[in-house]
This record gives sequence, C-alpha cells and structure tokens, in this order.
Amino acid sequence: MRTDQDQPVRLADYQPSAWLVETVHLDVALNATATRVRARLKLKPNTAAPAAAPLTLDGDGLALQSIALDGTALPADAYTATPDTLSIAQPPQRPFELTIETLVDPTANTQLSGLYRAGNTYCTQCEAEGFRRITYFLDRPDVMAVYTTRIEAEKADAPVLLANGNLIESGDVAGTTRHFAVWHDPFPKPSYLFALVGGALGHIEDTFVTMSGRRVALRIYVEPGREDRAGFAMDALKRAMRWDEQAFGREYDLDIFMIVAVSAFNMGAMENKGLNVFNDKYVLASPETATDIDYASIDGIIAHEYFHNWTGNRITCRDWFQLCLKEGLTVFRDQEYTADQRSRPVKRITDVRLLRAHQFVEDAGPLAHPVRPEIYREINNFYTATVYEKGAEIVRMLKTMLGAQGFRAGMDLYFQRHDGHAATVEDFIACFADATETDLAQFMRWYRQAGTPEVAVTLSHDPKTKTCTLDLTQMLRPTPGQPDKEPMVIPLALGLVGPDGRDLPLRLADGRTVEHGVVTLTQPTEVFVFAGVPARPVASLNRAFSAPVKLTANLTADELRFLAAHDSDPFNRWQALQTLGSTLLTDNVKALRAGAAMRTDAGLIDALGAILAEPALEPAFVAQALTVPSEADIARELGHDVDPDAIFAARVALRAAIGDALGAALRETYRRLSGGGPYSPDAASAGRRSLKNVALDLLAAAGSAAAIARAAQQYHTADNMTDRMAAIATLSFHPVPERQAAIDDFYRRFQADPLVIDKWFALQAGIPEAATLARVQELTRHPAFSLGNPNRVRSLIGAFAQMNQTQFNRADGTGYAFVADTILALDGRNPQVASRMMTAFKSWRALEAGRRAKAEGELRRVAAAQSLSTDVRDIVERSLAPA
Ligand SMILES: [Zn+2]
Repeated sequence: MRTDQDQPVRLADYQPSAWLVETVHLDVALNATATRVRARLKLKPNTAAPAAAPLTLDGDGLALQSIALDGTALPADAYTATPDTLSIAQPPQRPFELTIETLVDPTANTQLSGLYRAGNTYCTQCEAEGFRRITYFLDRPDVMAVYTTRIEAEKADAPVLLANGNLIESGDVAGTTRHFAVWHDPFPKPSYLFALVGGALGHIEDTFVTMSGRRVALRIYVEPGREDRAGFAMDALKRAMRWDEQAFGREYDLDIFMIVAVSAFNMGAMENKGLNVFNDKYVLASPETATDIDYASIDGIIAHEYFHNWTGNRITCRDWFQLCLKEGLTVFRDQEYTADQRSRPVKRITDVRLLRAHQFVEDAGPLAHPVRPEIYREINNFYTATVYEKGAEIVRMLKTMLGAQGFRAGMDLYFQRHDGHAATVEDFIACFADATETDLAQFMRWYRQAGTPEVAVTLSHDPKTKTCTLDLTQMLRPTPGQPDKEPMVIPLALGLVGPDGRDLPLRLADGRTVEHGVVTLTQPTEVFVFAGVPARPVASLNRAFSAPVKLTANLTADELRFLAAHDSDPFNRWQALQTLGSTLLTDNVKALRAGAAMRTDAGLIDALGAILAEPALEPAFVAQALTVPSEADIARELGHDVDPDAIFAARVALRAAIGDALGAALRETYRRLSGGGPYSPDAASAGRRSLKNVALDLLAAAGSAAAIARAAQQYHTADNMTDRMAAIATLSFHPVPERQAAIDDFYRRFQADPLVIDKWFALQAGIPEAATLARVQELTRHPAFSLGNPNRVRSLIGAFAQMNQTQFNRADGTGYAFVADTILALDGRNPQVASRMMTAFKSWRALEAGRRAKAEGELRRVAAAQSLSTDVRDIVERSLAPA
C-alpha cells in the first residue's frame, strides 16, 4: 500500500515524458501466488521533451527479478530498484530494449488494482495507476505503445486466456499441462487500457457487421452457468455499436470485441481496448433476478464502455487532470444513447435527479473541485460526480449553444485531428471553436471554476408597451481554493407561456431573435426585453435543464401549477411540481425545527392528481412526477442546520397526504397497470411497472392496511424482480409483520445468488428505524457478507451510509462511528473502496450543531489513525479543511 508521504501532483507541472515506449511485449505466466511477468519494452528518447534524462519507471509494490538492456543483464550499480521505482541513471541516449522480470502475487492483491483474483478468475484493473503493480513502466496516459501479450497458464486452471486486441496464436506448451495465447493490439494505447483475463469462463457469442461491412466477433464471458443471463447485455452492445455509427460516424476497429464479467471489481466497468472488464452486476440479468433499473443500468454502462473505444481509447487523455475529457464526453454520449433508445424526457429527469443528489452536493461541500482539477494527491479520488456528470453537462451545453450541426462538426474535427493521440480539454474545445468559428474562451471557465452557479430571474410585464422583461443575475460562491469567481457562460433555454398554455414567439425588443429558444448569459447581470407580449406570460426557464445551475424565479405557486399542467417542455412540467414540493417540504422542516405545525398544500396535490389523470402522458413520466423530492434533495435545498429526522417527518407527512387525497385514482392506476403478459425489460413496460409501484407505495404511505396486504401479496406472487423488489421496498418502510416474513423469504429464495443477496443487504440497511444500525452490524457477521468483495460492502455499508439519512445521521453519533470503524477496517485491504465510503461525510458541515460535532469527531478519529492509505487520508483531510 502506498503511504501518505506522496507529494501532490499539479497540472501546472506537466512535462512531456523524457522517454517513450514504442512496443511492449509481455509474457505472463499465470500462477495464483507467483505470476511471472516478463516485459520487453522498446524505449526511445522523446524528441519533444527537454534534454535527455535518466530513465525512471513507476512501480507499486513490485519485486524485481531481473533486468537486461539490449539483451545483456544490467550490472547492479547501473540501476536502482525499489518496490515503487526502477531507475537507470545513465541510459543510452538512443532507442534500446529493456527486459524486466517481476513476480506478482494475484491472490494477495486485495486492493483489486493491478493483477488479482476475482473468485478463481485472474483479471486486471489498470486505470488509473494499476499497470505499475504488474511491471515497472512509464505509467502515464501520454505514453502510448503497441502491446503484444503472451499468457501462459495451467489448462485446467485457466482454459480461457484473453488480452487486448486480436488473437494471433494459441496452443499447448509441449510436454506440459500448460497452454498459451498470444494477443496483439495494433492500436497504440496507454498502459491504463491494458487488460488480461484467465480463468474457467463460459461465454455467449454473436457477430456485428459494421457500417463498412467488416464482420466483428462479439463475446461476453461470464461465470459458467450464468450464460443465459448475458443475452440482454449482448443486445445492448449491438444497439450501442449501431448507434455510435449513426450518431457519431464511429465504427469499431478490431476483429473481436469482448466483455468479461467478474464478481470482484472496484468500479462499475472498465473500457480496456477490445476487452472490457465489468462488475458482473452490470452484465448479468434475468427477469427473476434483475429489476428494470438493473436492465437500464446494464444498457447504459455497456454503451458507455463501448463508446470509450473512440472517446478515451483512440483519443486518450494527456494526463489524469484531463479525466473529464474522456469521462464527461462519454457520459454525455451514453446519456444521448439512452435518450434515443428510451424516453428522452424521462432520461433527462433521472439524470438531473442524480446530478443534483450527488454533484450539486459535492459542489456545495468541502470536496468541491473543478471539472478539471488542478491538483491531486490521489487520482483515484477524482472519479467523481463532478468529473463525470458535470463534465457531461458541459458537453451538453456546447451542443445547446452550437446546435446539433455545429456540435457534430466539432466532434468530427476532434476525431480527425486527435485520433491516436493523448489530448487535453483545450484541444477538445478548440475543435468546436474552429469548426463553428465561435469564441469559447469564457466557456472554458466551466472546467476551471468549481461550484454550482446560482441564477436568479425576475419577470415583469408592461401591458402598455406589451413588453415582458427578464432580469437575470448569476452568482458563483467561493469553493475550496477558489475564493473569487468570474461570470460563467450560461445557455438558458426558455419559453414564455401565454394564458392559453401556448409558447409565445420570442422576439427581443431590440429586433434580435432568440435562436432555438436559448439566451446565453455571460455577465453578472443581464436584461432581456421581449416585445409583442399583450398579457403577462409565465416564464418557463432552463428548459430541459439546459445549464447545470441552481435557478430561482419570482414564480407564484399558481404559476408553477400552471407550468405543471401546460408547459410544452416535459422537464419543466416535472420541475414545477418538484419546486412546489421542495418549497412545502423545506417550509415544514423549518416549522418542525421551530416547534410549529406543518402546513399542507392542496394545490400541489391537485396538480399531482391532474397529472395522474392525463391519459396521454407516459407512465414513466407520471411516476417521476409523483415522486416527491428525496431526503437528500431537501437537505441540499436547506443547505445548513440540516436535521434528517425533521426532513424525514416532513416527507412522510407529504407522501401520506398524497396517498390519502389521491387514494381512489392511485388504486385505479394500480389496478389498470397490474397484469399484462410476460415480463419484458423495454422502456414502456418498465414505465408501467414503475407507475404501478409508485401508486402502491403512496397508498401504503397513507397507512392503508389494504395497501400493505396488496404489497405482501405482490411480493409473494410476482413473476419478476422489479415487482418483487418494489413490494418488499414498500413493506420495508412499515413496521408490519409482513415485512420480516418477506425479508426471510427473500433470503431463502435467492441465497445462491450473490447479486440478488446484495439487494437483500441494501434493503435492510435502508430501513429508516432506530433498530437498523444493530441489524446492519449483525449483518456484517452474516456468512454471505465479506469486506473482501466491493459489491457486498457497497450494498450493506454503502447503502446505510449513503441512502439511510436518518440512521447514518443518528443524533447519538453511533451511525457515524460504525461507518468510520468500517472504513478503518477496510482501508488496509481496499483503500479505493474505503475512501469512496469516506465521502458519505461530505455534507457534515451542513448538519445541525449536535450531529455536526459528532460527525467531526469521527472524521478527526479517522484522520488520527496510524498508517492510513493516501486515498482515505486525502478525503478525510479535505473534508476537515477549514471552510
Ligand atoms: Zn467511463
């Protein structure tokens, strides 16, 4: 494990590598505890770098066995080898070949970075800096080499041997029980995209014919016996390949594309060239074991990793500060894929919910950082909502401002100009500026300035001049390391909705027209005067969430209800209801804190009833409309003095009021959407199930015994996991005997299925009751639980810390203490997962004083612990840094 002595890395210090690697020949002899890796590197001085220098290769916990230069063993005084570096003080200043032999122990690798064992499968994870745990290397993304990988193993132990690229040779090792495979990847790539896999795996296969007529073999490898659960992933892969051809003109480039599902993985999935490695959670699905949300995640993540082949692999990042260059762009691409495959408005709503729940919260707390950070101590801590989701929003704003054609022209230029290179954010933005002759200098601030811009809008109307005026101001608060901010470029899509519910033409009084309904703010304050507006309109602002900002406007409750009923932008219909709900909930939390009574909002409930009664609306949209702001949403809106118990109570009261007032319509909705043929994971069917289950949940929230009985019945009779899981989730919020019966039944039914047992852990960790902490502590001793498997840790501890607001934030501080203890126990084993868990404390400063003191105490206890990983130390120290 790396210790916390490491110096921070700064973007400003970037220097090109003094040495380049042209080719890598790896010879890997797999063995569970002693895998021998022989790396033959063709190195050459980098003419683009300053004068020739010593050669220093990165390592991490390596044991050097031998080293030779141009085939001759190096004398001991010619090099220095430690576990973390290999240096040659005076290498020849010409191309030469270096052969390095290391010995690694995959079984002892509990960090799951580098070469490790997931069950009985050998696999690798090299992003960001895992390759240096396999061999000494120039482990940085701007060093791109052509790899040839020979893998050798016992045939019985690892009948399947895979690496990046195309298979060029395979066979038995004569006179032994071993065999080998040689893979060659013709595309130069950085070391973080290297992968190899060895094991006893089953697979399914298919073919894809690319737009130029090339036939590509597709294979998905899974644990033997799970092949029948990989079909949906294969279908998603083929749809993603076709979509990237149609939407971006991007074609696949190797003879084969492989996906391997493994049971122990730190992240969701990894886009290694031609050989994606996936957390099996995002590959395996059957109607009985996966929910509609699981299916949708598989679809989106398969597409995301595939899209990286161009945005990440063919064009990679110059350095890790540019991470958003591949991630923000690829998240945008997968969001667009999903929007085209499923419902665009519903996709936008779910993405914005996620953005606000994670990224806005990150941006408002001590871990706030720019989309392109300028300093890091541990790069693994920057795989964040800001880099990914806010990074995607920046790309979306480019498209909004430049239009679909201008955006495509910029993307085409990017692929043409930078294919085969390691690029920067500046390179990317320059392509759009050049392709559309647009000045994007100020727009670059989105990459540099952290924090969520706040936009305030005031509408006024003058019936005499028939003009409508929008006064807009923007403001960006200080964030860690950035006390002063400059105004941002904010593309605001808007409409003026007339009394008849129709959009008015947008004509500015100075004669300009508003293209595509978007005005672009660049100044701290701006005024837009619209002409030809006889009656006061209602402003529909930031349509489709065109900019990732926090917007306030002088809209009355009546106007919000009007938008909820009439806005031509479905996103803003949903947003109007959320704003009404959020206002009510924050008011009621404040009332509870002050010992006053909560108010009700009959108008909001009427508006929800109207949505429920509108037959033309898609059910998935109605389900989103009926889902009131989450506890995390309300905490974020409050911003300080957060009392999770008061938030919970206010939310329970609102849900009960909705369930009560709309009871008849909800019962009818539930009845109408029940039944209806065999399970299909398509978006329309999933939308119907989603609305049906939201209806049932609201009825139960109103305290209806009949609804509880119906939930119990649905749990026991469901023919698919979506309905079964929704029913047990509804039961989990009520202290009724049916709940424990269902929890016990669930375990009996699915105990052989770890991915389903993860749902069982998460469900119990999420119960909002005082007894839950003891239940979770008990479950850490359950035979199915293991600190060694990231999915188990996330499903039990992660669900408790991230999802269960009232119990993690217990007033007595025991929730914090339990999570801190777990992080300390996990850190020595898997620092990446431990530091991710540590981010559960990211909003501690916003808590009310009592909880804030308890949370701070636990953060200080972790900070004082001996031998913390760099990962956890970085998060805990940034969390505690003075605000
Ligand atoms: Zn990615």
